[in-house]
Amino acid sequence: MTKENRQVDSWEYAPSLESTNHIHIKKRYELFINGEWVKPSSGKYFETINPANEEVISEIAHGNEEDIDRAVKAARKAYTEVWSVMPAAERAKYIYRIARLMHEQARELAVIETLDAGKTIRESRDIDVPLACNHFFYYAGWADKLAYAFPNRKVESLGVAGQIIPWNFPLLMAAWKIAPALAAGNTVVLKPAETTPLTALKLAEIIEASGLPPGVVNIVTGYGDTGAALVNHLDVDKIAFTGSTNVGKIIQKALAGTSKKLTLELGGKSANIIFDDAPIDQAVEGIINGIFFNQGHVCCAGSRLFVQENVAEKVISKLKERLKSLYLGDPLDKNTDVGAINSKNQLETIERYIQLGKNEGAEMYQPACVLPKKGFFCPPTLFTNVAQSSVIAQEEIFGPVLTIQTFRTIDEVIQKANNSPYGLAAGVWTEKGARIFNMANQLNAGVIWANTYNKFDPTSPFGGYKESGFGREGGVHGLAAYVKFI
Ligand code: ADP
Repeated sequence: MTKENRQVDSWEYAPSLESTNHIHIKKRYELFINGEWVKPSSGKYFETINPANEEVISEIAHGNEEDIDRAVKAARKAYTEVWSVMPAAERAKYIYRIARLMHEQARELAVIETLDAGKTIRESRDIDVPLACNHFFYYAGWADKLAYAFPNRKVESLGVAGQIIPWNFPLLMAAWKIAPALAAGNTVVLKPAETTPLTALKLAEIIEASGLPPGVVNIVTGYGDTGAALVNHLDVDKIAFTGSTNVGKIIQKALAGTSKKLTLELGGKSANIIFDDAPIDQAVEGIINGIFFNQGHVCCAGSRLFVQENVAEKVISKLKERLKSLYLGDPLDKNTDVGAINSKNQLETIERYIQLGKNEGAEMYQPACVLPKKGFFCPPTLFTNVAQSSVIAQEEIFGPVLTIQTFRTIDEVIQKANNSPYGLAAGVWTEKGARIFNMANQLNAGVIWANTYNKFDPTSPFGGYKESGFGREGGVHGLAAYVKFI
């Protein structure tokens, strides 16, 4: 907890705030269409705020159907006249240039991400921004090697890709989507999330500085209606969406019967499974990393913990001790482990689930802490005595809330872990390699980590089973989502 409110004896650190002197945020952002900053046709703007102190950071253009139409037209023209006819090696140079410019501005991007999203500077500096750069570097390498990516198959780009992203990894999601689309020869219209548009707009500035031909990437900010206009636009060839399962279903219905390609990366309720032979201290760190360091704002968060019964007491008591030593507070402080919840709305959702868990009879534990007076914060929360059918063990909460269940046998834990409408990720902690392979074969999850959690790499595909969506992002699989095989 913060210096003033932590209740345990451990080292205190002087606050170590990341400087904001070097960052440039405009008072108002327009839409980035056809290489230019244009006013929204509605004349409407909305505010983006810092969820850690509720201060307004900037005003953002609210794009509507007309603006989406302008952006799609620009993307189509750029596709037909420039991008699809350019030699692939030339396309690669632009993508490399974007990667290098992002790298040069990494510190600024990290600070802006933290201000806009509430995530800790440690996370945005060490995870989001480097990974985002690396996605551009990685896919730049593929741009002129598609024949090697898909040996013995002939591929073509799709055309215009409409991409809609959420607020949990704003810049990283933009990179996940834009880099493979460009490398495969497509042009893009991207719609960032309404609570976290700033780093996508900084990326637009970087794209502008890179000299990328106008219209190849267009960024149209707005709310769900802006996203829906993109989904429903008749001249879009592909929709890539990351966000809630509910909106994913709406999009899937809207595209039924059309020729648009679709990839969906939706919710999750991922199982983190600890066997009695696991290295317990590392596993406890893995649990913390899986759900608390990022305020639970990760679709693949390890939000359901399954512990083998004979070590459950030990694991839970170590977990509680570790929670007491976490720093919760200003996300810009380099010591902070747990930052702000992304929005008031999301905080209310999380609080509703916590109340529901209590009403359902589960036992709640939160380390003693005083939350900052301003901003949206939620203490790390554990629930024990949780039934498999309990709502908090079934539904995605998207907050720092962990349910803990025990198991005795492998078959039992596989059944419990797979008993979920989702199938995005899972973690397995054991010293036995054979058990890891056995679990990996039987768990219905797109990503399975062994003795670690939440590790990402641009070369590795990511995506889900069941209601967690379909299609993969990352690696060659991520490239395949942006080509057609002919
Ligand atoms: P979350 O619950 O994570 O905010 P959402 O699915 O609501 O997830 O939002 C993810 C993205 O989808 C955001 O950019 C949001 O504006 C956009 N969005 C919301 N509703 C729609 C819709 N009906 N059609 C297209 N995009 C939408």
